[in-house]
Amino acid sequence: MSLMYKKLGILGGGQLGRMMIAPCIDLGIGVHFLDPNPKCSVADFTSHLTVGDFNDYETVLAFGRTVDVITVEIEHVNVDALAQLEKEGKAVNPSSALLRTIQDKGLQKQFYADQSILSPAFSLIESTSEITKFPIVQKMRTGGYDGQGVQILKTEADLAKAFDQPSVLEDLVDLEKEIGVMVGRNTHGEVQVFPPVEMEFDPELNLVKYVVSPANIDEKLSKKCIQLAKEVATKFELVGIMAVELFVTKTGEVLVNECAPRVHNSGHLTIEGASISQFEMHVRAVMGLPLPRVIVTHPSVMINLVGEAGHTGSPQLTNTDEVLAEPGIFLHWYGKTQTRPGRKMAHVTVVRGTVEKAKEVADEVLEKLRVVAE
Ligand code: ADP
Repeated sequence: MSLMYKKLGILGGGQLGRMMIAPCIDLGIGVHFLDPNPKCSVADFTSHLTVGDFNDYETVLAFGRTVDVITVEIEHVNVDALAQLEKEGKAVNPSSALLRTIQDKGLQKQFYADQSILSPAFSLIESTSEITKFPIVQKMRTGGYDGQGVQILKTEADLAKAFDQPSVLEDLVDLEKEIGVMVGRNTHGEVQVFPPVEMEFDPELNLVKYVVSPANIDEKLSKKCIQLAKEVATKFELVGIMAVELFVTKTGEVLVNECAPRVHNSGHLTIEGASISQFEMHVRAVMGLPLPRVIVTHPSVMINLVGEAGHTGSPQLTNTDEVLAEPGIFLHWYGKTQTRPGRKMAHVTVVRGTVEKAKEVADEVLEKLRVVAE
């Protein structure tokens, strides 16, 4: 099969889209983007950026008709247009049906329940008046992002801060660890799994502080995580890559928290730490290419570089010369034109002989590399 000139259309031109360009170059796939921001992360690296809203029906339809395969780097896109493109015979990977389910945390949780996939017990509510049990985790059904839209209501007093909108109420899980498994599944139904990574959170920002590979779990638990992630991807009939976020409870149970049917922050360290990156796996999967088995090549740790508190404006990174002179430290700058406190602006993967050493170096990098406004 000639790969040359097959066109992949990506809804979204942010950092995830930007990191998908490299495998498209290598595999000889033409890559086209749709993003509302003319200065989005991919803008400097492609002449195939259509400026337009990926939430607008007509815009997505028109864009989709110009490419061979359509994929996403963000799940909040116009799925009605994608469904229409499917009717017209276009390959939409992942499918509009899968995206529709994922977009709404209520439908997503219901899917796990219907498919007997282990996940925390939940109920669906329309307004705060229905919250009567504490402690409980409240998640907005739509509109949440990166920990925004999720909160723990410990006692009745917390009702004052509850989201008064359609939400999922979920049992509070006694967490031992949070594990991420990236699963790739191609158009032929072949499945490959990246070995589990461990996510450690910053309690203040409620954002992942480190992603660690390999996860510090035993073989048996690792197999359980992989099995569950494969089950999710297969039951969703995924085509592409999916990040499956798992909770390991204090009693050793593994539960599915949520899934994202796209390349994901928790898979960034595969660029340097594995035999294939999540980005190449995704591109291969959606284009119907073979998926190779994944080998972890190095212990690695990924950290997000977020905008410094008190800094808003054109971004600049401090101490880059010093940090980049070190081996095994890989900077991925996202090319966003504006920094804001807490905004993800870049990530760094540190590769060392052990995870512990990589974490130590990551801490030093976090001290030195600061995203400030010019
Ligand atoms: P988001 O989609 O914003 O990432 P998540 O559903 O992943 O939201 O929740 C964010 C974080 O909140 C999780 O990574 C976990 O640390 C915590 N959390 C979410 N649900 C629960 C739960 N049922 N029990 C305990 N902690 C939870």
